[in-house]
Amino acid sequence: MIQIDALPAFSDNYLWLLQDDATRCCAVVDPGDAAPVLAWLESHPGWKLTDILVTHHHHDHIGGVARLKEATGARVLGPAQEKIPARDEALGDGDTVQVLGLAFRVIEVPGHTLGHIAYYHGDVARPLLFCGDTLFAAGCGRLFEGTPEQMHHSLSRLAALPAATQVFCTHEYTLSNLRFAKAVEPGNHATSNRFDEVTRLREQGGISLPSTIALELATNPFLRVAETSVKQMADERAGRDNPTPAEVFATLRAWKDQF
Ligand code: ZN
Ligand code: FE
Repeated sequence: MIQIDALPAFSDNYLWLLQDDATRCCAVVDPGDAAPVLAWLESHPGWKLTDILVTHHHHDHIGGVARLKEATGARVLGPAQEKIPARDEALGDGDTVQVLGLAFRVIEVPGHTLGHIAYYHGDVARPLLFCGDTLFAAGCGRLFEGTPEQMHHSLSRLAALPAATQVFCTHEYTLSNLRFAKAVEPGNHATSNRFDEVTRLREQGGISLPSTIALELATNPFLRVAETSVKQMADERAGRDNPTPAEVFATLRAWKDQF
């Protein structure tokens, strides 16, 4: 059984640490800072960092990679299409990698950046998704490099994963995302309930992740662009018809950028 914990970094990043108790090996996803991982290793003698998984090239995701590899000898996995420091394996769509004995399938998810990848472990009992800055709890990443069409397609692929899939994203943006989600869907009770729950959780110092695909399908407006009420809100906002879900998505993303 793999245990997964969040190591907080910067103001709102989580470095996800996967731990295999049987072998005392661990892996980390998107270590933008090496310090929290090195501190964890120091306080857990006998543990070895074997793998570093990278989703995209932004500094808050790769800043600690070189130092961690140097300190631990861990293997660095990252997207083939982007410049990743100290990368050992360049990954593209459909590739499979073994990490701590688990098979992860690589899904290319361009939009936030053009080479962005996600890692999916399709275990029936406990499917896992590490999606970087593509899918957030109740939101999605900004479009720094890709088009709205690309991001909409990427999110659609993630939305099609099993409902029980646990979603590990990189940032604690859930509450502000839910504020926007409520503006898009004032009548969505799942969204307002989630907002109340996450508000309480954050007041108590808890973290709002991981999410699940089921919860995102119910509350994330960026996965709900085919809903009539979401389209109507987007049309109202844009002052014109958004004839396709991809255009509804583009209108929502532009709205959120100024929200
Ligand atoms: Zn990013
Ligand atoms: Fe980020």
